[in-house]
Amino acid sequence: MFADLHLHTNFSDGTYTPEQLAQEAKRCGLKAIALTDHDTVEGCPRMSAACQALGVEFIPASELTAELNDFEIHLLGYFLDTENATLLGELAKFQEVRQRRIREMVQRINEHGIPLQEETVFKLANCRSPGRPHVARALVQEGFCGGLDEAFERFLKKGRPAWVPKFKMFARDAIELVHQAGGLAVLAHPALNRNDDLIPPLVEMGLDGLECYHTKHTPSATENYLQMAKRHHLLVTGGSDCHGLSKGKPLIGTVKLPYQRVELLKNRVIQQAAERGFKLAGSPPQSSS
Ligand code: AMP
Ligand code: FE
Ligand code: FE
Ligand code: ZN
Repeated sequence: MFADLHLHTNFSDGTYTPEQLAQEAKRCGLKAIALTDHDTVEGCPRMSAACQALGVEFIPASELTAELNDFEIHLLGYFLDTENATLLGELAKFQEVRQRRIREMVQRINEHGIPLQEETVFKLANCRSPGRPHVARALVQEGFCGGLDEAFERFLKKGRPAWVPKFKMFARDAIELVHQAGGLAVLAHPALNRNDDLIPPLVEMGLDGLECYHTKHTPSATENYLQMAKRHHLLVTGGSDCHGLSKGKPLIGTVKLPYQRVELLKNRVIQQAAERGFKLAGSPPQSSS
């Protein structure tokens, strides 16, 4: 029994709808999944309904953009109360600056002689949390770039002409935001940060877990983070970071988190709710096997 706790839909930069992604989870035989769209929880209600209809356990979540010591990090918030007013208020700010950033990226692309229109990007993105992949897809759709890789290489990668820095929350605030919404805060794909020195201060700020299993982690990186999680008494998560089709196939289900790890997450979230005097949102996570 396995789980995949890192997935994106078209509510951010994934290409599947929540219903399509739930179908894929069922097809892969996954017992549990989490939806971790960038800086939004808007896809969670539909995903929850689709999963319930298919008998797949669902965890509402989000991947928050944060920073620590000028490094960009991604914090996964799991078991979020998706109606928490403070959370929704902060996410709305993220979404507004993401939309402003798209306009700025398009403007810079225009300054490089490419007449891409911002409406084309917004229409294609059709969500409140647009990002660079939508600009890349628009450049390809309009015939300005031969492929997504070319779009990132020529324009969108850090240091390229249309790269615009992203709004980030301070890590401490992001962890607190997740906790006050009843959730658990997990550092996403730590190997991609190439800076393990960030982990001890995050632990001190209340980090709950480490994403040890990830598509871009080598087996030795996974082993390293499993040991680090043990040393710092952190929970262990993992997921594929599926954004839709990748080289013709979806990544969902290719990173297999043993389901027992989900049980441990649920135990912690119940414990945290009791400690903080929270009412659990919706149906409480059942700690059965
Ligand atoms: P943003 O949040 O707007 O900065 O966009 C980041 C997203 O772009 C990541 O979550 C990936 O989905 C995607 N991405 C980042 N770098 C690349 C790349 N070199 N090629 C394709 N997709 C990328
Ligand atoms: Fe993404
Ligand atoms: Fe990420
Ligand atoms: Zn992701």
